[in-house]
Amino acid sequence: MKEPAGRVHSVETMGGRDGPGLRCVFFMAGCNFRCSFCQNPDTWSIRGSQSITLEEARERLIPLLPYLRSRGGVTASGGEPCLQSEFVVGLFKAAHELGLSTAIDTNGSCPPSKQERLLEVTDIVLLDIKACEDGLHRRITGKPLGPVLAFGKRAAEVPDRLTLRRVVLPGINDSADELEGLAEYALKLGFTPDIELIAYHRLGAHKWKELGMRYPLANLKPPTAAHMRKVAERLRKHGLTVAGD
Ligand code: SF4
Repeated sequence: MKEPAGRVHSVETMGGRDGPGLRCVFFMAGCNFRCSFCQNPDTWSIRGSQSITLEEARERLIPLLPYLRSRGGVTASGGEPCLQSEFVVGLFKAAHELGLSTAIDTNGSCPPSKQERLLEVTDIVLLDIKACEDGLHRRITGKPLGPVLAFGKRAAEVPDRLTLRRVVLPGINDSADELEGLAEYALKLGFTPDIELIAYHRLGAHKWKELGMRYPLANLKPPTAAHMRKVAERLRKHGLTVAGD
C-alpha cells in the first residue's frame, strides 16, 4: 500500500516549545479553525505547502537523533495536524522506531473515527482550549467546543499524556467564569492534566495584512506579566499545576 504523504508548511529542526526537550516540529499545512488571534494564518491553506513522504521525514530525523533522543522527540503542530492524521500516525510510528517521543499540538478537532489510531502512537497531547463556553469558542475560532472537550477526555484516559493550553486573550477568555470552566473541565477528567498558559502576542499580525485580511484583534493589548500571574493563581487555587505565567 502506498504510504501517505504529508503537506507541511515548514519543519523546525530544534524547536523548544512544543513538548519537552529539543524537538523536531512538523508544522502541518491546513487548518479548519479561524481563530481571531491566530499567529500563523499562513498555515490555514495547503496552497504553497511542501509535500513530504514518510521516508523523507525519517531522513530528516536521522541526523538529529543525538540531540532529540536525550529528552526530546518529534512534534506535529500546524495548522492543524489532525487534518492529516494518516501522515501523522506514520510519522509517529517512524519516530518511535527511532526511539523518539511523539507530541501533537492540536485544536482538538480530530474526527472520532481517527482518534484511536492517532492516540495510540501519541505520547503527549498539547490540547489548545481557546474557550470553555461554546458561544465564545465559536466566536473566537468559528467552531463548536464540544468535539474539543470530547477529544481531551479521550486523551486523558492515559495518565500524563494530556496538557491543556490556553492562549490568554485579556478581557476575552480570561474572565472568572472562563477560568472556573477550564479548571472544572481539567478536574473532571480521569487524570488531571497540567495547564500551560501562553500570553497572547501580536507577532503574527503582519501576516494577516500580507494575506489581504483584516486582523480582528487590532486593538487588543498583550497581557502584562502581572496579569498572567493572576490568571495562573486563579487556576492554582483549584490545585492545578500551571506553567507559563
Ligand atoms: S487552531 Fe491554531 S492554526 Fe488554526 S486558526 Fe486557530 S490558532 Fe491558527
